[in-house]
This record gives sequence, structure tokens and C-alpha cells, in this order.
Amino acid sequence: MKILVINAGSSSLKYQLYDMKDESVLAAGRVERIGMDSSILIHEPHHTDEITEVSEILDHTIAIRKVLDKLTDAKVGVVKTISEIEAVGHRVVHGGESFSNSVLVDSEVKAEIRRLFDLAPLHNPAHMMGIKAVETNLPDVPQAVVFDTAFHQTMPQKAYMYAIPKVLYKKHKVRRYGFHGTSHNYVSQRAAEVVGRPIEDLKIITCHIGNGGSLTAVEGGKSIDTSMGMTPLEGLMMGTRSGDLDPAVVPFTMMKEDLTVNEVNSMLNKHSGLLAISGLSSDMREITDAMAEGEPNATLAFDMYVYRLRKYIGAYAAAMDGVDVIVFTAGVGENSIVIREATCEKLTFLGVEIDPELNKIRSKEPRLISTPNSKVKVLVVPTNEELMIARDTFRLVQESK
Ligand code: ADP
Repeated sequence: MKILVINAGSSSLKYQLYDMKDESVLAAGRVERIGMDSSILIHEPHHTDEITEVSEILDHTIAIRKVLDKLTDAKVGVVKTISEIEAVGHRVVHGGESFSNSVLVDSEVKAEIRRLFDLAPLHNPAHMMGIKAVETNLPDVPQAVVFDTAFHQTMPQKAYMYAIPKVLYKKHKVRRYGFHGTSHNYVSQRAAEVVGRPIEDLKIITCHIGNGGSLTAVEGGKSIDTSMGMTPLEGLMMGTRSGDLDPAVVPFTMMKEDLTVNEVNSMLNKHSGLLAISGLSSDMREITDAMAEGEPNATLAFDMYVYRLRKYIGAYAAAMDGVDVIVFTAGVGENSIVIREATCEKLTFLGVEIDPELNKIRSKEPRLISTPNSKVKVLVVPTNEELMIARDTFRLVQESK
């Protein structure tokens, strides 16, 4: 079965076509600047060079049609006809409390995703455009949705409630949901395989650190706490997001600087984090390069980032009364030798000891970077959210037959 995985944003759309026979990627690509001048389609087939095409792509329906044209193209295509695509899986950021698992799309599921627009105003409407666009182009093909929040629905109430008037939870569902769930789920499963123990017996802390970042305490294969909250703003310091701060800073700043709700939201989500502290960049590579040149603001940004990451690891070890495995994943976690080194350096109280040589190895495979003596196994596991989406879609379609 061939499955198309779609991650639709408001003006972009990423795709991968999987052959589930061997879980290989036949083609991947993305469409950028949808609805703007000079939209770009970048198509990367497995058998030949990638191509870039600039044209006018007014909406998601046209974007999907262009993608399907490329997938069936005589030269750069990977299937003979569209009918070979038997299912489509979508990434959906927010599933609220309604979805603790992936599901096949039907009218009720669509209505529920719409009801959740309030909780993820930047993401869910865009995902819905992706679902509609597929419906228009491939009316008979089943679609599945895989939620970033679903894996965290196992969190106990004591972890997901905020200590504010309960009426806000009852009326507006204000609570912690957590994100990157597909990734935390995938890397915790892979980590258990790598250490050769059943996941049910393990206490794992997964550190998904990319542009956005979150940590999850995975006990017995279930998320019991995670650092992102009702929105992805809470928790770690990120590329452009502030992460945790005293909530009183928000009204204080609004008052002193005469800011609107939108302005303060934009400040905390887009103009904070590494970018704000370094004054240079939100990209960890540029921060570490500048730090190596002695730039003090880059050093402060790096130190704050690592310090907060370490505090969360300590907190989650406490939440689970121990930790067997720590996993690093996503752009920073998979690639930054210095971040892993600096984070683990002061986790000796947990019995963490990483091997500097193993930590330097670059590979696309999951790997152990701790010493044989380390009480906690430390791993780097490249994440693969698209594969998880393809697997869930495959399973749901098979089950429905
Ligand atoms: P997203 O959250 O957008 O999915 P990624 O997981 O792809 O992001 O992570 C992107 C980030 O990974 C970049 O902003 C960059 O800071 C970081 N990154 C990528 N490669 C390296 C590297 N070699 N060293 C340090 N950071 C890196």
C-alpha cells in the first residue's frame, strides 16, 4: 500500500509518499508560499535529482493537484497513476481532549477539528485546508489524522491541570496538552528497542529539541508529563519562544509598553528565546559559532538554554522517581554535540556519564552515547514523525477493511 503523508501549514505543505511494503520513501517535497506570488514546489523523488518549480499556486487544492502531477509525472514521478495512492495521513497539531489516538477522517472528526480551532488558531485551520484539498483531488481515498497532542492524553490530572480557577478548564478547556507527541512516542519506542528492554519496564526522558522544543517523561511507554502546555509556548527556552516565565510578566509588559494581546503573543512566540537573548539568531548553529568566537550574548543564550533543559531533566527524573534512558532528538538534539555534552555534564547526580567520542559520531541511526558505567543510558535517536503518520494511517485503513 502506498500512503501519502501531508503536513499542511497556512502557506506551505510538506509531503512524503511511502511504500508500506518496506516503509521506504518514494518521494518527498514541499510547496511554499501558497497564495502568494511565485509559489515554489520542491519535489525530491528517490530515483533522480530534486526539481524546483516556481508558479502560481493560489490555494491548498491547487497545491495538492500539483503534487499529484509530480508524483505521476513520466520523468520525476514515482507512481504510474494516482490510483496507486491508497490512503493519505495528515499531521494535525491539536486534538484537544477529543483524540487520544489517530483516527480516520469522517464528518464528525472534521467537525471536532473545527471545534478545536480556538486552541490552535495558527495550525488546525491550515490542516483542515489540507484535508479538504485532498478530498477534492482524491475523493475516494481514505484519510487519517495523527495528532501531536494524542500521545500526551495519558497524563494524569495532577500533571495537566493548571492551578487557576477551574471554571476556565470547564468552560474553555484550559489545561496542559503537550505537543510533539508523535515524535516523543516514536523515539521512546526506538530507544527501548536499542537498549533491548520492554518499554513497559522503562523510565525514559525524551528531549525533542529543534526550533521548538519539549521534554516528555515517558513511564512504561506512556507520557506522564510534558513541558509544553495548552500551547507550544510553555516549557523550554526555544529558538524564538520564551518558554516558562512568571505569568505576571505578561500584564506588566502590556501595561508598561502599551501592547495589545496580539503584540504580546507575537513577542513571546516570535521575538523571544535564543533570538532575543543572543540578539543574533534563533538557530543553535549560529549561537554556538558566535559563542566559539567569544560573543557574550551568544554564550548567555546557550547557557540559559542548557540550564533550563537540565532543570527539566531533573524535574522529570523526580516525577518518575528515577530515569533509565535519556533520549536526544530533533534538529538540535540530533546534531549538536556541544548541547548534549553541556547538558549531560552536570547530570552526574543521576549517574549520567557520556562518552565524548561516541557523542561526536554523526549518523542517521539511533545510537548510544553513554559509557558502559553510566547508570542512565543516553541515546541519540533521529525522529521520524512522517513514518509514524504513515504507520498509523496504514493500520487504520487495514482495520477498516
Ligand atoms: P523544527 O522544530 O522546525 O522541526 P528541526 O527539528 O528541524 O526544527 O530543528 C531545526 C533546528 O536544529 C535549527 O534551528 C538549528 O538550530 C538546529 N540544528 C540543526 N543542525 C544543527 C547543528 N549541526 N548544530 C546545532 N544545531 C543544529
